Amino acid sequence: MDKIVVKSPADGSLVGEVAVTPAEQVALCVERAHQAFLEWRGVPLRERAKLLRNLRQRMLAERQTIAELIAREQGKPVIEAMIVELFPPLDTITFLLCEGMRLLQPRPVRSKNPFMVDRRSTYYFHPYGVWAVIAPWNYPFTIPMVQVASLLFTGNAVVLKPSPLTPLIGDLLVELVHKAGFPKHLVQVVQGGAPQGEALVSHPLVRGVIFTGSVPIGKRVAERAGAKKMILELGGKDPAIVLADADLPRTARGIAWTAMVNAGQTCASVERVYVEQAVYKPFLDALQAEIAQIRVGHPLESTTDMGPVIAPFQRERVAHHVEDACAKGGRVLTGGRPLTELGELYYAPTLIADATPDMLGMQEETFGPLVMVQPVADVEEAIQRANDSAFGLTASIWTQDRQRAHALAPRLECGSVSVNSHIVAYGDAFGVWGGFKDSGVGRTHGEFGLYELVQVQYVSEVYTSKPELWWYPYSDRLHRITDLLMGLLAEPSWRARGGYAKRLLPELRYLTRQFSPLKTTPALWRYLR
Ligand code: NAD
Repeated sequence: MDKIVVKSPADGSLVGEVAVTPAEQVALCVERAHQAFLEWRGVPLRERAKLLRNLRQRMLAERQTIAELIAREQGKPVIEAMIVELFPPLDTITFLLCEGMRLLQPRPVRSKNPFMVDRRSTYYFHPYGVWAVIAPWNYPFTIPMVQVASLLFTGNAVVLKPSPLTPLIGDLLVELVHKAGFPKHLVQVVQGGAPQGEALVSHPLVRGVIFTGSVPIGKRVAERAGAKKMILELGGKDPAIVLADADLPRTARGIAWTAMVNAGQTCASVERVYVEQAVYKPFLDALQAEIAQIRVGHPLESTTDMGPVIAPFQRERVAHHVEDACAKGGRVLTGGRPLTELGELYYAPTLIADATPDMLGMQEETFGPLVMVQPVADVEEAIQRANDSAFGLTASIWTQDRQRAHALAPRLECGSVSVNSHIVAYGDAFGVWGGFKDSGVGRTHGEFGLYELVQVQYVSEVYTSKPELWWYPYSDRLHRITDLLMGLLAEPSWRARGGYAKRLLPELRYLTRQFSPLKTTPALWRYLR
């Protein structure tokens, strides 16, 4: 059987190995998950909530082990793993326990249609069944854990396929879920790459897919999956807009962190900065000072701010974007070279000034420790340039003018906007996560994310001996009444409506064959208003 041997990107030491799941075994995992789902969907929410509490407890108790494994396998510093990998799933479980219970309760439909008031209608929220969760390597714990916890709470089953670059975290995640008491087959892991991923998403018993990864693979997965519920969390090329009245020291500090966190390997890291000309030079000075201070080193050292990139292909992509920018007139203010003295996969945090739109690093996702800054004449140019991208994940505006920021934020074409910070949406389980344009389809997190994981069912009940108005037999009379009712409901002029109402009066008897006038009249009044 093939295996994946994991070596630390920090120093090449052996971290562990896992067996690759033969692609033909994927179907068995899905079938088992489906069987587990058939029972799980009937488990009351409060029972599911108990297990989620256990899971939260487990994560808390084992946080050091989890963070250290992330540091060794993926390369981010331990403290960073605690902040960005453990906080969000803990917060998500809290969201599910506080809000999810309420949001998933059957809910009455408050129809304003006067001809629906005689009945009781209800929304129910049902799980889909088995979901494929296809995860990336850059946030190998937080991303799938948020998704898995939410799927389990909503009554679904999961087959997780971690990235082949971070399979050990995937195994650990599923082990934690099992230790929390969730049924064994409800959550399973499949190890491998594209063959396993494709076998999984195309299995007919897989009803939903959450794919987090690159745009081209996301599109391919959507094709392979066909007509299934699909959530795609894809790449980004996030812009930050720095206005002339920004608090420059704080802005520089914030952008330095958001550009370099996880060695820049974050879908929503700041990769493009547009700065109003008036503060271009002082902002660059401040950002250069911040980036130059970042301590690059071994992720297990407590004083390391930034670790290595994951693999040679990632380092090469950064180097390529730096070379391209330099060839087109960009100025390297700090960094711009691999740190071979530290190891094969370290690259210096890099700041490039005088960026122009034709540079690769201003167009394609770099996904590494590189941030590029371009001066702009004014805020209008900044907004236009920020939106001039196929991506639309997140963005930020840095200013002290609340009113201006409030008005500008909705003009940015992306799934979330932070003012005087960046990527806040991922850290807020009550918020929402997802992208516009090529950055994705669908949402995770919060209320909108929760409703993506369930199928909404509408149940309408009526108990009467009266027939529905629209039933057979059809007649000229029914035609006339239908006509008058449509005019009454939709005519914009009150005078004309009055005319329709008057002409309907003789038909009241016929209408009350079906409607209770006592209920219908006030409802009709509300509807017309
Ligand atoms: P990737 O697209 O290379 O791989 C993602 C996952 O898909 C992996 O598990 C991989 O094994 C699997 N896969 C590959 N080919 C497949 C196929 N044909 N069928 C099914 N599965 C297949 O992405 P990556 O390099 O792991 O992650 C980096 C990318 O993810 C970046 O573009 C980043 O922006 C994006 N990302 C987005 C978000 C978000 O929330 N929007 C979060 C993290 C990462």
